[in-house]
Amino acid sequence: MKVQIPRGTQDILPEQAKVWQWIEEKMREVTKQYHYKEIRTPIFEHTDIFARGVGDTTDIVQKEMYSFQDRGGRDLTLRPEGTAAVVRSFVENKMYGDPNQPVKLYYVGPMFRYERPQSGRYRQFVQFGVEALGSQDPAIDAEVIGLAMDIYKQVGLKNLNLVINSLGDKESRANHREALIQHFQPRIDEFCKDCQNRLEKNPLRILDCKVDRDHELMKTAPSILDYLNDESKVYFEKVCQYLTDLGIEYTIDPKLVRGLDYYNATTFEIMSSAAGFGAITTLCGGGRYNGLVEEFGGPETPGIGFALSIERLIAALEAENVQLNLPHEIDFYLIALGDRAKDYSVKLLNDLRHNGFSADRDYTNRKMKAQLKSADRLSAKYVLILGEDELDQGIIQMKNMQTSEQKEIHLQSFIEEIKQLVI
Ligand code: ATP
Ligand code: MG
Repeated sequence: MKVQIPRGTQDILPEQAKVWQWIEEKMREVTKQYHYKEIRTPIFEHTDIFARGVGDTTDIVQKEMYSFQDRGGRDLTLRPEGTAAVVRSFVENKMYGDPNQPVKLYYVGPMFRYERPQSGRYRQFVQFGVEALGSQDPAIDAEVIGLAMDIYKQVGLKNLNLVINSLGDKESRANHREALIQHFQPRIDEFCKDCQNRLEKNPLRILDCKVDRDHELMKTAPSILDYLNDESKVYFEKVCQYLTDLGIEYTIDPKLVRGLDYYNATTFEIMSSAAGFGAITTLCGGGRYNGLVEEFGGPETPGIGFALSIERLIAALEAENVQLNLPHEIDFYLIALGDRAKDYSVKLLNDLRHNGFSADRDYTNRKMKAQLKSADRLSAKYVLILGEDELDQGIIQMKNMQTSEQKEIHLQSFIEEIKQLVI
């Protein structure tokens, strides 16, 4: 048997998990500030949910899904993204009937895509995403974008580029679509097979092609911004205005076409501009998807959201060399020397823990010096030392590891004295 992790996946070892927890905490803080609530959907769904919700012409559905039949013959797929499942749940649970509209949701969890693994691209990765369903107000577009930017700022990233675009409404898109077909059709045989298929099905997606991105027709392709009708134009201008009001810088890229088929109006991506960031610089992508709720049988409901992966966020932290302000691993490290002291420490440790402190001790009979080293490695705030002498005198030594200050504490009133000193 080969003892090896599957390709494209990774173990998050305890040291790294601390970073993940810290990031997830920051995310939850920000979502709370913006009043988004968590939703947890299953890791797998009926394959149809993604085929319809993400779109038949996307790379995700065509090439990247982990699909299987269960023992009951159901066609299921490990979720490759979050939006389709959230919208499925929104419809199934009739959240459109909730008196509080829009419904503002967020999720964090693993996603699965059969991709070619490389730096920043995994087969299992964790996405954080938000969805705001039930509002067609450009202010919510700006809010969602602002939330994403805040998350990156909260973790300490600085080199960020926000790129936005508008794909317009149905009418604008239909006109643009015709223009794209006319533009690409005469020379479509110079494009990849995927693009040839896209020409009729969804020519907009040609602009997103990674194979043909340098073809000269790409540079001269008609810009959606020239095809926006008045309503779409005003909407987009409002979004831009709100971003300016929020002090968020952005650039407009008329070629920004997002992966999902149902995107319309606002689309955006946030990239890292840090030197040394790998080839894949997109950290976050999102946009408006009016029409998706109807596709799942719900009433006409506008929606907007984004998704980002924690893996790429961490890559950006590393590229920018951000020093993280991680919390101390433990409050107390208790060193007990001699059998009697060790026996006594069992209860002391328990007292600390039950009073809300984190505390640990040695369990492998190491010498005092080795134990002090452990306390250091764990960046314990305090070290407690209990030897035979101390035990006889009814005291314990407490050392503040930051100031090196030392105090004697009475065992009789151990917790009371600790609480006074530590708070
Ligand atoms: P890409 O063009 O890089 O393949 P995408 O358009 O497939 O991205 P989305 O489906 O929009 O990406 O997902 C949103 C975010 O999730 C991306 O911006 C990226 O941060 C992250 N992401 C997507 N795929 C992966 C992956 N395989 N591994 C890690 N993170 C990923
Ligand atoms: Mg992709």
